[in-house]
Amino acid sequence: MRSEIEALLRPDLRGRSAYGAPQLDVPVALNTNENSYAVPQVVVDEITARVRAAAAGLNRYPDREATQLRTVLAAYLSATGTAVDASQVWAANGSNEVLLHLLQAFGGPGRTALGFTPAYSMHPIITTTTGTTWVDGMRGVDTEAAFGLSAASATEQVRRHRPDVVFLCSPNNPTGTALGLDVVEAVIEAAPDALVIVDEAYAEFSRPGVPSALTLLTGRPRLVVTRTMSKAFALAGARLGYLAADPDLIDALRLVRMPYHLGTQTQAVALAALAHTELMLDTVDAIKAQRDRIVSELTAMGLEPVPSDANFVLFGHLRDSHAAWQALLDRGVLVRDVGIPGYLRVSAGTPEETSAFLTAMADLAPTHK
Ligand code: PMP
Repeated sequence: MRSEIEALLRPDLRGRSAYGAPQLDVPVALNTNENSYAVPQVVVDEITARVRAAAAGLNRYPDREATQLRTVLAAYLSATGTAVDASQVWAANGSNEVLLHLLQAFGGPGRTALGFTPAYSMHPIITTTTGTTWVDGMRGVDTEAAFGLSAASATEQVRRHRPDVVFLCSPNNPTGTALGLDVVEAVIEAAPDALVIVDEAYAEFSRPGVPSALTLLTGRPRLVVTRTMSKAFALAGARLGYLAADPDLIDALRLVRMPYHLGTQTQAVALAALAHTELMLDTVDAIKAQRDRIVSELTAMGLEPVPSDANFVLFGHLRDSHAAWQALLDRGVLVRDVGIPGYLRVSAGTPEETSAFLTAMADLAPTHK
């Protein structure tokens, strides 16, 4: 950055790196946990029809409250077993913007947010861009499982740091680890003055028996559960994230959102996809099967995949993870180097993409593990 610009920049942003997952044109892109399957034609048609119908009205601002969309999102969540209504749902441009609204409203200068790393790399970035101080908590302290987080460890760290905001991520990116609800409940109790965010971007990929923190919402007004249409719904390009929480908390978010933040076209696209929820989620089982295949085949190669409840797998132990990342890229397979020495993260793709990754990895494993 030019020194004149650096001098103008907020001091707390100087020297920071931007979020930078490479966007490369490669045959097999398995690096950002997208859904590899294209939007089905019937949904393409529905999206096209709804955007077309809305187009002439684009001279007007969108429905600022996104009422219809929030009502349909509430119905989707309710169908998973926890009744919520539109007054408990908030939507924005990706769950990243939802998280930004939360930090704008509940973080800020003089306040701290605690997350348990390794976790989603945007949590600290969103936190610090709002002037909130990030505190790096730790995973894998007292659990057998690599990268696990026990209720005892989480509450000890919460009591020690006394944060204003706590980030929990379940299933956790980049490790794929789901949290027990005992951890969420214990953190809410151990931090009586904190907002507790459970980022459930990958919830739909969880293995049976992993309950959502949505089931804890009743009677816990400091709990927020964030979701996205970018993963299971195969709609990353549309940018639609949402959350469920207490209606008063939603009211607080209205203080910080920009007026009309969610465009008419975005609302129309999301509603079109939600009108075909079953079809849009049709790929989830196939993706889970490829995820489980990655875990078993990498294990057979002598590598160490972390058991996953998401649509990706973190795996070690590589002698030089960056060299392995480059060697995979040289074979046309882009995975993610998440900065954990010895580990790489791969998204579960179509069977063909997954085969391409596993074939390349089998080729590389003898020299890289
Ligand atoms: N949370 C987690 C844990 C994620 O991994 C991601 C995307 N990689 C997001 C939130 C943000 O997703 P989006 O903004 O596309 O909803």
